[in-house]
Amino acid sequence: MQYNIALLKGDGIGPEITESAVKVLDRIGRKFGHAFCFAPYLIGGCAIDAVGVPLPQETVDGCLASDSVLLGAVGGPKWDHLSGEQRPEKALLGIRAALGLYTNLRPAKLFPALRGASPLRRDLVDAGFDIMIVRELTGGIYFGERGYRQGRFGEEAYDTEAYSEFEIERIGRAAFETAMKRSRRLTSVDKANVLETSRLWRKTMHRLAAEYPAVAYQDLFVDNAAMQLVRNPQQFDVIVTSNMFGDILSDEASQLTGSIGMLASASLGETTRGMYEPIHGSAPDIAGQNKANPIAMILSAAMMLRYAFGLSSEAACIEDAVDAVLAAGFRTADIIGDSGAAACSCTEMTAEILKAIG
Ligand code: NAD
Repeated sequence: MQYNIALLKGDGIGPEITESAVKVLDRIGRKFGHAFCFAPYLIGGCAIDAVGVPLPQETVDGCLASDSVLLGAVGGPKWDHLSGEQRPEKALLGIRAALGLYTNLRPAKLFPALRGASPLRRDLVDAGFDIMIVRELTGGIYFGERGYRQGRFGEEAYDTEAYSEFEIERIGRAAFETAMKRSRRLTSVDKANVLETSRLWRKTMHRLAAEYPAVAYQDLFVDNAAMQLVRNPQQFDVIVTSNMFGDILSDEASQLTGSIGMLASASLGETTRGMYEPIHGSAPDIAGQNKANPIAMILSAAMMLRYAFGLSSEAACIEDAVDAVLAAGFRTADIIGDSGAAACSCTEMTAEILKAIG
């Protein structure tokens, strides 16, 4: 079977890690008898340099015509002086909106071999943890009305958060369905003691909870959730939350696993296409040095196989290979922790994973 994948390498370490994912998919294709065809498109800073905008229409059209989308990362200091609409990061919001991707799945799983790389005390992570953060992706404050105006103390800036019941119900259902496929525990995170949007969020989640009696449901304020994640991450299974809270909590959860370089994500909408990307950024501090950890990108490709193409055995083959390589002691610089291992490069880590796939 042939699968057409739009490949958005982006900026910084984006091209290095997407190259790793392409190699892994090629190997999986050979092993399992699939043809993965890649069509590269510009996004972010490299698109600004080439054609003057962060998200060219050709990129949107190419993604819409593809079976799925793989994205590296965008942004970097070269484009930091640009204003809001012209910034590379604007392309992320644009492509998510254009593809109707309102659900972001962000797994934060501690690989047994990486316990020593977690910043948490050993007794807190010995039992491991496996959290799925379900983040709303196309609403809330990142998409609300914003601007500058004259206020009581002179110029002021404002951003507004709005959520419709429809948007909350849509992400809520995705979260309850996700919980049903896992250990049936769902925590909804909000700030209902302060925010109106959170009060509507909570009311809608409670209505849905009545439809899913098999799911053990709880509410948590976001400040408490941030604390509980470092106090006892094992207590969580699925967490559902708004765009901005999810952005922040998933970075926190990612660090608990050892490194942001380990975490994949899937952005899903009404079609099976989706977009798959690591949760980290373009890491300009290590770009072009062959130091990047390719695992988040490679695991994103595995998520694509599972969610977009229904290729679960192929996805598991990649995940098992990553497990095996970590268990064998291979580490990129970001996940050395207390292992005492010598750092391997991005290409060396990729080569080990390819070997483990066989
Ligand atoms: P970042 O995630 O790029 O980097 C944070 C730290 O983590 C850095 O020290 C970096 O070296 C390290 N790191 C990240 N990924 C790594 C990997 N795979 N292997 C090893 N180390 C890794 O976040 P930042 O520095 O805040 O942002 C850099 C740029 O990326 C900014 O322009 C930002 O806007 C952009 N950004 C893009 C995305 C995206 O494309 N989805 C997400 C977040 C940030």
